[in-house]
Amino acid sequence: MVAILKRGVTDSQIESLCKWFKSKGLDTHISKGHYQTIIGLIGDTSKIDTDLLEGLEIIESATRVSEPFKSANRKFHPEDTRIEIAEGVAIGGGAFSLIAGPCSVENEEQILSVAKSVKYAGASVLRGGAFKPRTSPYDFQGLREEGIELLLAAKRKTGLPIVTEIMDASHLEFFENVDLIQVGARNMQNFELLKELGHTKKPILLKRGLANTLKELLMSAEYIMAGGNENVILCERGVRTFETYTRNTLDLAAVPMLKELSHLPVVVDPSHATGRARLVHPMALAAAAAGADGIMIEVHNDPANALCDGAQSLTPKQFEKTAAAVFAVRDAIKM
Ligand code: PEP
Ligand code: MN
Repeated sequence: MVAILKRGVTDSQIESLCKWFKSKGLDTHISKGHYQTIIGLIGDTSKIDTDLLEGLEIIESATRVSEPFKSANRKFHPEDTRIEIAEGVAIGGGAFSLIAGPCSVENEEQILSVAKSVKYAGASVLRGGAFKPRTSPYDFQGLREEGIELLLAAKRKTGLPIVTEIMDASHLEFFENVDLIQVGARNMQNFELLKELGHTKKPILLKRGLANTLKELLMSAEYIMAGGNENVILCERGVRTFETYTRNTLDLAAVPMLKELSHLPVVVDPSHATGRARLVHPMALAAAAAGADGIMIEVHNDPANALCDGAQSLTPKQFEKTAAAVFAVRDAIKM
């Protein structure tokens, strides 16, 4: 249930109202916007009478929310959330970021050269996998801690904030200086990992699982937010369908749908969604047109010899062209 307060309500009135809700066994989530303050009620609200609430002097309206996700719900928080990744770099609430870099960090020269070229093309966040979730245990598993060290070195040299994937909460100590922590598709429902990330203050890039619904994605975001970390960015990266020409099927309707349901920013990853480099450019443009708050693209200096996901990686030159076109689409849809 959400209660929209009347304008001009004081902090002490809000506090006593929250105490009253607490006495009814409910937790509260307060969202203060420019114009409105909204209180989200978390818990069993079945015994709360909405008419009674609306009769209170400070409440403008009270509405039941049927969706099980509360903190991520736009009804609790009508304004878009803007998440600061680093100083001057944000995603959501009108801020847009291009995230680019290799699937995996392979060596110092590779990550540094890719970092420099994606920065030149307009990317504002550098990606690179260090702990890699590979289908086969015989495939390259990532450089692990060393990969994060190399990303941090590229961050120092270029000034780009970094995003890299976590697979196990016991690795959190290595992520201290990582700006944005990615939860990959395969871990979207690793609830113990999500709970641990909820206890940090780090921005989290939460990817949609291989065969998960948008509701399940939002419930996973809810796991992180319920722990106190509200810095969650949702990522559509394609889902598994009967189609075989593409690696996954990019669900672009997820962008406006998620934005309708939630205030959290939405990023699209056309690389994993298509699996083919030549499809990344058109799908990146489509994602920008659909209103994505960010786009994440795999870029490799030598895709043919990449240790992971070479087939879907753009060269720095191709990325430059795609980035320019994405920014042009962003400008065009502002009209
Ligand atoms: C990745 O971003 O490198 C990755 C493994 O993505 P996903 O979890 O979407 O497959
Ligand atoms: Mn990849």
